[in-house]
Amino acid sequence: MIVAMQETASEEQIQQVIEFLMNLGFEVHRSTGERQTVLGAVGARVGFDIRDLEVMPGVQEVHRISSPYKLVGRTFRPEGTVIKLPNGLTIGGKEVVVMAGPCSVESREQLFTIAEQVAKAGARVLRGGAFKPRSSPYAFQGMGVEGLKLLREAGDKFELLVISEVMDISQIAVMEPYVDILQVGARNMQNFNLLRELGKVHKPVMLKRGIAATIEELLLSAEYIMSGGNYDVILCERGIRTFETYTRNTMDISAIPIVHKLSHLPMAADPSHGTGRREKVSPMARAAVAAGADAVIVEVHNNPEKALSDGAQSLYPDQFTELMRQLRIIAVAVERTIA
Ligand code: PEP
Ligand code: MN
Repeated sequence: MIVAMQETASEEQIQQVIEFLMNLGFEVHRSTGERQTVLGAVGARVGFDIRDLEVMPGVQEVHRISSPYKLVGRTFRPEGTVIKLPNGLTIGGKEVVVMAGPCSVESREQLFTIAEQVAKAGARVLRGGAFKPRSSPYAFQGMGVEGLKLLREAGDKFELLVISEVMDISQIAVMEPYVDILQVGARNMQNFNLLRELGKVHKPVMLKRGIAATIEELLLSAEYIMSGGNYDVILCERGIRTFETYTRNTMDISAIPIVHKLSHLPMAADPSHGTGRREKVSPMARAAVAAGADAVIVEVHNNPEKALSDGAQSLYPDQFTELMRQLRIIAVAVERTIA
């Protein structure tokens, strides 16, 4: 950590800061310039709140150099994490995995129709919410366990793995027999009790970025899961809230290379929630693969006008097939292939 003192800081103020740092266990290196004194504090203290320093008299700026997370940091596994899924599929390697399906499981007919279409187009994982986090308590809340059973059945029939969202600790055990990947939604990214429990699970977890979460907060949430012992975490950019109103969210494509630099964990992209508008989904999916995404998760519906959730951002099956064709071409340009 670097503490730059104000040019007007008195020797007494400098000493107070040095003492404060030493009491926290830091080793302090002082550089007394002609105009300004800069203190280098060595000996990382995880959880230390830098604002305590920022508000001390005479302090100008404080910069943390060591990262607050350990297990998710790139240095922990410089070669990168490759997650192995039950059917031999991997996420985080050379292959880019495409996950597709409806926002919500609505009925057997709906799910099986979509599953067949996305499998034919080349998706490898079937998505579908059985427990739905809806902004309104009056909106469709999902089919629950019935939806999970349908997902498993459709997945097995069309040779697709299954991903679905877990909203609560009590749902973990219920979901485990039916899903291959547990999804943590944007609204639960900082549900730390849920994250801790998922640290004990022996299934990959896809952690979506919160609606207003920084990349560092996303990584710290992943640290909760990893520190519990579950190292199979996939991160996912799904759009963040900005001042822009044209799209539902602003798809932060730059989060993909940033996460790859900071962490060894695979990074997925969800252009459906990332834009909220059907015609913007394919361009952002293409951009995500070009930017290095390890997986793409897309909402597809056979009858989006009648969808019980997120119809406006769901691709028609034909659009999804065309997107897959394009992604195969783009993947080659960045030395990847579509799984
Ligand atoms: C979803 O995948 O359907 C979903 C609710 O996503 P998010 O948590 O990103 O809003
Ligand atoms: Mn959705």
